[in-house]
Amino acid sequence: MAFPDIYTEGIASGWKVIDASALAAAQTLEADVAIIGSGAGGGLSAEILSQAGLRVVLVEEGPLKTSADFRDMQEARAYRDLYQGGGPGKATSDGAITILQGRSVGGTTTINWTSSFRTPEPTLKFWASEHEVVGHSVEEMKPWFAMVEQRLNIAPWAPAPNANNSVLKLGCDKLGWESHVIPRNVKGCWDSGYCGFGCPVNAKQSMLVSTIPEALKHGATLIHRLRVRQLQHADGKITAAIGEALGAKDGRTPTGVTVTIRARHYVAAGGALNTPALLLRSQLPDPNQLVGKRTTIHPVVLTMATMPEKINAFYGAPQTIASDHFQWKDGATGPMGYKLEVPPMFPGIGSATFNVFGKDLQEGMADFARANSLLALLRDGFVPQSEGGTVRLGDDGNPVLDYELSDYVWEGARRALLSMAELQFAAGATKVRAAHLDSAYYANWPEARRAIAELPLKKFRTTLFTAHLMGGCPMSENPKRGVVTSRGRHHQIANLSILDGSVFPTSIGANPQLSIYGMTAQNATALAKELAR
Ligand SMILES: Cc1cc2nc3c(=O)[nH]c(=O)nc-3n(C[C@H](O)[C@H](O)[C@H](O)COP(=O)(O)OP(=O)(O)OC[C@H]3O[C@@H](n4cnc5c(N)ncnc54)[C@H](O)[C@@H]3O)c2cc1C
Repeated sequence: MAFPDIYTEGIASGWKVIDASALAAAQTLEADVAIIGSGAGGGLSAEILSQAGLRVVLVEEGPLKTSADFRDMQEARAYRDLYQGGGPGKATSDGAITILQGRSVGGTTTINWTSSFRTPEPTLKFWASEHEVVGHSVEEMKPWFAMVEQRLNIAPWAPAPNANNSVLKLGCDKLGWESHVIPRNVKGCWDSGYCGFGCPVNAKQSMLVSTIPEALKHGATLIHRLRVRQLQHADGKITAAIGEALGAKDGRTPTGVTVTIRARHYVAAGGALNTPALLLRSQLPDPNQLVGKRTTIHPVVLTMATMPEKINAFYGAPQTIASDHFQWKDGATGPMGYKLEVPPMFPGIGSATFNVFGKDLQEGMADFARANSLLALLRDGFVPQSEGGTVRLGDDGNPVLDYELSDYVWEGARRALLSMAELQFAAGATKVRAAHLDSAYYANWPEARRAIAELPLKKFRTTLFTAHLMGGCPMSENPKRGVVTSRGRHHQIANLSILDGSVFPTSIGANPQLSIYGMTAQNATALAKELAR
């Protein structure tokens, strides 16, 4: 079946799309608004601001890759073209926590798994009471979430979950634990399971296929393979964004060509590692030394099970069932809460999740069709023993994340590993192990309970990853506590907004994309009104 490629047709019809790698000489672009980063926050901002009649330039350091590039459905190609640091190759400064984050037009939405949750009520209440955030109560956010849900076709997944997600549903049912169907942002989904490598049929309503094309139809300019190195500033205002073109060969080496963007207003939307890094590189005022602090990541721990039948965890919508049974049990500030979900399993990332070598890995991969993994998203950032990590600049000016795990976090990780092992056995697993170097496969729940209680939980022994980068430029009405206001406006720089996941004062306690869309819809709409006046 032939699919028209949205961008091939759009560019032919006159969309302004510039591949900076092809520029031979320096350029200057003028706009009402320059948006840096084209992910969840940047893509939606581009649509809202350009629909308001503003001239928008949208800058993306990654390449423009479209459905035509995704049809091989290859894991390795996707990590190379669509992920920061080549996917599983990127990690915290000490190498202990793998970081998955997108880097192409559409940002991380191009490769995410489509789970779409509104920001949980306890999180919004905590921000208001503890972080002096205003205007984002459940009632105030309702219309914005509703608007985005309609825009991106977000609805609970109606078909049956795949066999992989059914493990979570069955285990919860058997144990009497809460579980729910996940809302997804898809239209005409083929249920194939390749969301993480770029949707080959444009069913996922990522920014790549929804808001960015709409912004382009409204006259926005998209410039890709351009990394903004610096925001120049004077007298409390940004005067220019300076970008460096990146060569097409590796997509990372500067060609030596610079692009200067002059705008009335600037929106930083590079995500929770790159936005703080941009502010640090630009030496923007930071009187309270807040930039890069409180970076939360929903640290993930996993268990691996072998199921009696083949479940082919690489097929089908990747995440359709979740459990909040352990999330808010003890309130926002009790022992660490966690959300349980199911990751899709593919040979590359799946083999890393096993966290074993040699014969053990060979056996695990030989039985890959029966493998099920559960993950726990640990809710960090709500208590003093879990303040998140710190983004700082590496020698090359790129962000480096330092992240420590306190006893409080490890205690939550151990409970999460125990819950997941219990659940997998309840769902019929024949053996289960923690994703941990010292874990064996356990034959039953009593054995797993004893062994996991004794596992030495520490970095490098425990498999840890994050796909949810949040914070680093937190919002608060109090400039001593926040880099931006609750409207996303920088406290010291008059014509700078931050509209991405970096503004969250804590982690979300649920997959963050809809939280970013909702906040961005609200704040970009207010900005559009102000700039259009
Ligand atoms: C594998 C995976 C699965 C996920 N699944 C889900 C899910 O199911 N549900 C969910 O809610 N969330 C999911 N997420 C997370 C979610 O997609 C992100 O939290 C969200 O996209 C972050 O939005 P953002 O606007 O903060 O940044 P991003 O979407 O990461 O976009 C930032 C963009 O800015 C660009 N950029 C950065 N700095 C610069 C610069 N200086 N110059 C130019 N461009 C720059 C980057 O290249 C990037 O493309 C997943 C993440 C991963 C990695």
